[in-house]
Amino acid sequence: MAGNASDKQPQGRYYIETWGCQMNVHDSEKLAGSLHAEGYTKAESAEDADVILLNTCSIREKAAEKMFSDLGRIRAIKNRRPELLIGVCGCVAQQEGEAIFRRAPYVDFVMGPRSTGSLPETVRRLRGETVRKRTVDTEYRRDSIEFPFDRIRREGPHSAKAFVTIIEGCNHRCTYCIVPTTRGREVYRPMDQVLAEVRSLAERGTYEIEFLGQTVNAYRDPEGNTLAELLHAASEVEGIRRLRFTTSHPAQMTDAIMDAMAACRPIVCPYLHLPVQSGSTEVLKAMRRGYTRERYLEKIEALRARIPQITFGTDIIVGFPTETEEDFQQTLSLLREVEYDSCYSFAYSPRPGTASLELVDNVPQEEKAERLARLQALQKSIQERRQRRWIGREVEVLVEGPSKTNAERWTGRTPENRVVIFDGETAPGRLERLEIVESTPFSLRGRQVTPVS
Ligand code: SF4
Repeated sequence: MAGNASDKQPQGRYYIETWGCQMNVHDSEKLAGSLHAEGYTKAESAEDADVILLNTCSIREKAAEKMFSDLGRIRAIKNRRPELLIGVCGCVAQQEGEAIFRRAPYVDFVMGPRSTGSLPETVRRLRGETVRKRTVDTEYRRDSIEFPFDRIRREGPHSAKAFVTIIEGCNHRCTYCIVPTTRGREVYRPMDQVLAEVRSLAERGTYEIEFLGQTVNAYRDPEGNTLAELLHAASEVEGIRRLRFTTSHPAQMTDAIMDAMAACRPIVCPYLHLPVQSGSTEVLKAMRRGYTRERYLEKIEALRARIPQITFGTDIIVGFPTETEEDFQQTLSLLREVEYDSCYSFAYSPRPGTASLELVDNVPQEEKAERLARLQALQKSIQERRQRRWIGREVEVLVEGPSKTNAERWTGRTPENRVVIFDGETAPGRLERLEIVESTPFSLRGRQVTPVS
């Protein structure tokens, strides 16, 4: 979905490369929107662009190295066209700051995720200067959260689904995580602004909204409205058929939010991504997660009691400092107990700027790899079994686009976040009714029944 057309003189073309989570993808939609409002249009490749932005993520190992290697490629373009403007945005920008210029002096500006509102001004100034004065802007402002929503340039395959930011930053201090450093403390968007955006999207044909935030369930606006109030209000907006929110922190999954999820069924989807990270209370303590294994399981139970059909996804880190075989066994037993439908799992590696650097990384590399393989094999067998129970059932799927593995087929998602692949006549953004005829651990195969819309 495009943002409002710009009435400015054409300025040239922009190209944005994005890494990371949904928050980063959505930040790129805002960066694109602010350039579009200035009169820029999207370039098909970096080669054709006048402005190149790298919207970086520092969650993955060696993120900065990956960024510098990409910059090396972009440098060749700048050698041919010295007027090209290069900006580094996102979490690596925040973390590395000035250091980026030392290794890549051809970069023109560095901008943290909380100061992206100044992008138009920075681009205007730098392109107007004969001798460019490079800038670093890593202040924690409210720019990103206060971005005018009618300018967001959503680039997804269809307009039926949209991300909406409700909270930025994080007040937790998990020892392995850089987010509180790169994105700052929590700031919340007033609920009336969030609802205005939801209504405006619904008027343009969007019917699935995903609320975003690093700790989305910590949302509390200046009037005291929480995610519970927001779910109630958003589910009443005409035209909205599906609501999701990500990422939730287990410690902040309150009874009020769980009640709202149940009360707003079926609009609030029966799926929750609830990162546990470890099944051992001792390791959770070392991670400074703020809950125990028992407390986490109580939340799962409380959600299942309210919403029997709810399914869960999670994130797990194996081989965190001090994790023993016994701790790891507790993670495996938690996996068996909860039976997640999806699990993103990683072997721990120390990240620059995080508190866990002070802990001794005492699980040998081979041990981490071996634990990760055991965990993934177990999860695959759980998923295999859980996916099979869908065979023969009828589901409603929001069509996302052609399947990644076979462009002749379509892919879509059920309210429970199951990926379904199917053949037939349809289009991205449509809702289809499908009968499930086959399953794999990671996706389902469906057959069209009758179109829903
Ligand atoms: S809750 Fe923990 S893992 Fe999540 S963003 Fe905050 S510090 Fe990072």
